[in-house]
Amino acid sequence: MNYILHNHNHVDDIVTTIMMFYPNEKYNLINFPEGLTVLSALNDRKAFAAFYDGVEEKASFELDTDPENEKSVRYALRVAVYRCLMQVRPIKAPWGVLTGVRPAKIVWNMWDMGCKDKEIAETLRRDYLVTDEKIRLAMAVAKSERGIVENGIGKIGIYIGIPFCPTRCLYCSFTSYPLDKYRDKVDMYLDALEKEMRFMAPTLAKKTVESVYIGGGTPTSINEKQLDRLLCMVEKYIGSCEELTVEAGRPDTVTVEKLRLLKQHNVSRISINPQTLNDETLVLIGRRHTVDEFYRAFELARQTGHDHINTDIILGLPGETEEHVMRTMDGLEKLSPESITVHTLAVKRASRLKETLEQYDMTDFDRMENMIHITAERTAAMGLHPYYMYRQKNMIGNFENVGYCKPDCACIYNVQIMEERQSIIAFGAGGSTKTVSPDGERIERIFNVKSVDDYISRIDEMLERKEILKDE
Ligand code: SF4
Repeated sequence: MNYILHNHNHVDDIVTTIMMFYPNEKYNLINFPEGLTVLSALNDRKAFAAFYDGVEEKASFELDTDPENEKSVRYALRVAVYRCLMQVRPIKAPWGVLTGVRPAKIVWNMWDMGCKDKEIAETLRRDYLVTDEKIRLAMAVAKSERGIVENGIGKIGIYIGIPFCPTRCLYCSFTSYPLDKYRDKVDMYLDALEKEMRFMAPTLAKKTVESVYIGGGTPTSINEKQLDRLLCMVEKYIGSCEELTVEAGRPDTVTVEKLRLLKQHNVSRISINPQTLNDETLVLIGRRHTVDEFYRAFELARQTGHDHINTDIILGLPGETEEHVMRTMDGLEKLSPESITVHTLAVKRASRLKETLEQYDMTDFDRMENMIHITAERTAAMGLHPYYMYRQKNMIGNFENVGYCKPDCACIYNVQIMEERQSIIAFGAGGSTKTVSPDGERIERIFNVKSVDDYISRIDEMLERKEILKDE
């Protein structure tokens, strides 16, 4: 028998009284935790949560659940805590208790179970506490994805990572190495990459490769000769595919020669990313390029024949307001890119931003919500629709990242990686290969090491890890 005393020491009085009811027990004095405490409990068919300040119960919530159904139990426990804490600290949470990376996947899973749209919307509203606005977004994205996902059944995707960038952005948490320090390693990195691709080539030859995505890092930060070699490797070891994307993310890495090379090697989609069209913010986030350089890079891309250009932007960059976002959207509207990916800033653990956060004027929930509405309205006015979406941990306001595109301009790779119905083979440092079983039920992953140095020196081990794929 445990007992707790608070603000007194009258042990005997309490223990002797307890003994009247529970004789011959062992009685343990335990401490009630100091400060704020959340209690989460599962009692028979009830999920229960309570919130204490010291010993004082400030709020509690209980709801029914089905103990036979693990998913139902998990969500009931989560909802109980959410409802309980809402009483003491009301927050806006557009996605309710949904914390997963892929909100549209729930729609897909319910479609698979034969549910109708109305029933899906009701479940999202009632069980997951998602707002109507986000339900509409999740449904719109899932519907836009449908044709692409179905068309990709039985095919595979490829990811190739080039983890070098001109500088490291303030918010970056990717595998990315500043070229100034790593320039001498690029050729060795390509040697290792070629070894990995050559190793997998016989397996890839038996598959239908739907999309190839060369990301990073910034693939266009390597020099023309190296970029040409990389694209030749794609042709030699992977062959043709329906969509070949190259991230040309940093405008300061884009040259006419590189853009021509991309065209010559049948790159069908490139991404040139301003993140913002405000020079003072670009300086603040350490991008080392200007708004004008972005415009120049975009213009050059058009002149060299690139007819599918994506632009990434980030909402909630330090110091930015709704006016900054309007200015960014004004600029993009004039360029009319085929797609715009709108990210909301996430403060990642491995970023410089996280370490220096207190130095910056960060966006609050309401401002972020306004910015999201601006981009949703402006992209719609430009004839773009939401076609893929994902969420990350530590996003300001717990919102989402949304890819908007013109009709028939969705990035196949982005959709397939989000919906996880297709295997993706990844090459390069930090690559994460994902194999999906034919029934879509089982997903297995094979990871490459993240560090460039380790990837180069341990390339044979990366091949061993991929050995298992040769039988598939
Ligand atoms: S361009 Fe992308 S990968 Fe490179 S440092 Fe910036 S955020 Fe990181």
